[in-house]
Amino acid sequence: MPFSEFGLEEGILRAIKKVGYARPTPVQSAAIPKVMRGDDITAIAQTGTGKTAAFVLPMLHRLSLRKAENRLHGTLALILAPTRELAIQITESIHSYGRHLSIRVAAIYGGVDENSQIRAARKGANIIVATPGRLIDLLGRHKLDFSRLEVLVLDEADRMLHMGFLPDIETIVAALPKRRQTLMFSATFPREVESLAKRFQHEPKRVQVGAKNNPAETVKQAVYEVPPHLKDAMLLALLKDEAFTRVLVFVRLKDGANRLTEILRNEKISVTRLHSGRTQEKRIKALADFKSGAVRVLVATDLAARGIDIDGVSHVVNYDFPVNPEDYIHRIGRTGRAEHEGEAVSFVPKGDLNLLGILEMTIGQRLPRKKLRSFDYYAKSPAIVIPPAKKDWRKRTRERDVSKPQKPATRPAKKVGKKFPKSR
Ligand code: AMP
Repeated sequence: MPFSEFGLEEGILRAIKKVGYARPTPVQSAAIPKVMRGDDITAIAQTGTGKTAAFVLPMLHRLSLRKAENRLHGTLALILAPTRELAIQITESIHSYGRHLSIRVAAIYGGVDENSQIRAARKGANIIVATPGRLIDLLGRHKLDFSRLEVLVLDEADRMLHMGFLPDIETIVAALPKRRQTLMFSATFPREVESLAKRFQHEPKRVQVGAKNNPAETVKQAVYEVPPHLKDAMLLALLKDEAFTRVLVFVRLKDGANRLTEILRNEKISVTRLHSGRTQEKRIKALADFKSGAVRVLVATDLAARGIDIDGVSHVVNYDFPVNPEDYIHRIGRTGRAEHEGEAVSFVPKGDLNLLGILEMTIGQRLPRKKLRSFDYYAKSPAIVIPPAKKDWRKRTRERDVSKPQKPATRPAKKVGKKFPKSR
């Protein structure tokens, strides 16, 4: 069914055309007609499936009807999302799909000054996109009015519960009108999410389209068995390949992200970093620079693994192998999105082979082992070798500000040639 058959307002259809969507994705085809009818839905869909438009488009349609009836006053829709990044991204989508409708949107999330957010909400935001923590704070101080609310969306419900937001969500929902449409989106459907659906929804219709979009099946994957001290050199060798146009590199720790960013910068690679130790402004800028293509590489912790939608990520590199399989799936799902091709490569030192084994059992496939022809695995002449800062792995050190001049990050290559058996 094409977009034109959903009965969406003409301005919304024009905006869809402008963003270049030829036809609805499966979750949109399944969800939009139900949401347009006014049903509550529980959709099991991962990010990358087009789920944001599945709830935003009918919401915009509803608001444009209210506008035509001259009843578009106050906040009619609330979207709760687990992270600030996702809240910002949803807000951007609303602006994009709603470009021809004059509808006000406010994003409310922590880590930045609250006053401008309160002002935006009070000026009559028709849609509020929020993370639960900051919202509950403002709600408790009577800064928000939800008495006219018609639609509630819980996006990435499983993730919000996982992050311990259940008490906040319960308090927020208790402050909303009982008569409303409640839409719930979740990548998985554990018992806790089911219980949330039972309590907050009215005869919800189930929408399930996840299986086809399992990134473990659609993203091209490879594993490089590489010793820890050669991971930097390996990454630099891979980045010599021009096919690595927009590269998301995952590390485990903030310090690791800072260190690797510094190394890449020293090698004249345009790079930025994203982790929870940075200010919100810097996080937003890092993501914006990566999205716009101003920088080629984003070094990030798992903060960037979920929900974040970045167009055209050519490669995901698991510089540090993820500790659990769920994180792996989320990380590699950042590439190969919306019908684009994507590749995910993982560095697996000997010490992480057990994690790789657990992952392969979980996803039920053996990942191809690869070797890079141009790379000397026995480290006789790696381009650059910087031993990993081992202490950083155990000890939490304060984040260094790498924008200030630092001691040179490159140290002389260590002779390690004989340590690794030839069978590797
Ligand atoms: P989401 O799952 O909402 O994060 O969306 C993932 C990506 O799919 C975003 O980059 C959207 O712009 C894109 N997208 C959403 N709907 C469509 C569509 N019907 N056709 C092509 N791309 C889409």
